[in-house]
Amino acid sequence: MSYQVDENGFYGEFGGAYIPEILYKCVDELRKAYLPVIESAEFQQEYRQLLRDYAGRPSPLYYAERMSRKYGCHLYLKREDCNHTGAHKINNAIGQILLAKKMGKTRVIAETGAGQHGVATATVCALMGMQCEIFMGKTDVERQHTNVERMRMLGAKVNPVTTGNMTLSDACSAAIRDWCCHPSDTYYLVGSTMGPHPYPDLVAKLQSVISEEIKIQLQEKVGRDYPDYLVACIGGGSNAAGTIYHYMDDERVKIVLAEAGGHGIDSGYTAATIHRGRTGILHGSKMLVMQTPDGQIEEAFSISAGLDYPGVGPMHCNMAKQGRTQVFAINDDEAIYAGYEMTRLEGIIPAIESAHAVAALSKMSFRPDDIVVLTVSGRGDKDVETYLKNKEMAKEYGNF
Ligand SMILES: *Cc1c(COP(=O)(O)O)cnc(C)c1O
Repeated sequence: MSYQVDENGFYGEFGGAYIPEILYKCVDELRKAYLPVIESAEFQQEYRQLLRDYAGRPSPLYYAERMSRKYGCHLYLKREDCNHTGAHKINNAIGQILLAKKMGKTRVIAETGAGQHGVATATVCALMGMQCEIFMGKTDVERQHTNVERMRMLGAKVNPVTTGNMTLSDACSAAIRDWCCHPSDTYYLVGSTMGPHPYPDLVAKLQSVISEEIKIQLQEKVGRDYPDYLVACIGGGSNAAGTIYHYMDDERVKIVLAEAGGHGIDSGYTAATIHRGRTGILHGSKMLVMQTPDGQIEEAFSISAGLDYPGVGPMHCNMAKQGRTQVFAINDDEAIYAGYEMTRLEGIIPAIESAHAVAALSKMSFRPDDIVVLTVSGRGDKDVETYLKNKEMAKEYGNF
């Protein structure tokens, strides 16, 4: 059983490329180009060099001693928070900007919600001297001001999107519309394992460096190259895809994912797409989508802007449906608590997205010799205000 994409771009019943006629040429050009390019020796040489010298890879695999004691297992943290720009998103942005250059594109567009993917894209465009335009919902432009200023400083044009709820989903739609108008010179740099085929596969492959490194680092540290558990948070699914990529078909490894429960999966304020979604089509792909009974997209809600998306990548829809992954919905208060806990026990402030993965630990039970690898997808500097505003959710740690 393989959970990889098939030749038609599907993961089981999910995935595919449901696109308007006008985009067919763009998507087909990308589909034909991506594997020959990213598998070429020249691409691999440039990509590996930038990952090492620019992004700072390999990211550490850190033995978290105090948290290991608390959870009664051997807990290792895969430190994507140590990367340049503060999260795993740079791995994908570096890979796709090299692909865009090889395809002869001169202009790059991207969507962003919290602004993390926008910043990663603006960063690699500055690095390569490429023209960059970011689409961002007007609501997000207002609540993520620092990231907007970072993108502008990096030379990107930020286009506030005023349709719909004016958030991530609307920004995706606006980027797709822009692409329709500029098919020949423009590369659309998608930020997660979503969108029409080949994007989910392309992004998963570019993030797979995470599990490639875990294999080598575990072998060095514990003398075997696989853990008993992998744990990651899941929004669109890219850091999770990278974390599990080289272990998907290895049944010795249990996979636990944490999606955003918001106020609770039955509260009406949630982003727990795998728990709440029904099969539908969103942004060019068949996936689980939170929708009303008549198929209107429902707005997602989570304290974490990076997990706040009404869909989830097709690879993960299939793996969850096949029972290969166990998915917990982590509520806002549980994530905040877990974020404080990691901060106080290990001196690492995780992104609130990553804190959802940490919170999953308290819902699991371990044997003392279990080896657990948890991916810290990003650092929490951007979230300090949110942590402080919600410190009553972590009374044990928030009493200051
Ligand atoms: C964007 C983001 C996520 C969610 O995206 P995935 O594609 O699901 O990984 C998680 N953590 C951080 C730090 C992010 O910036």
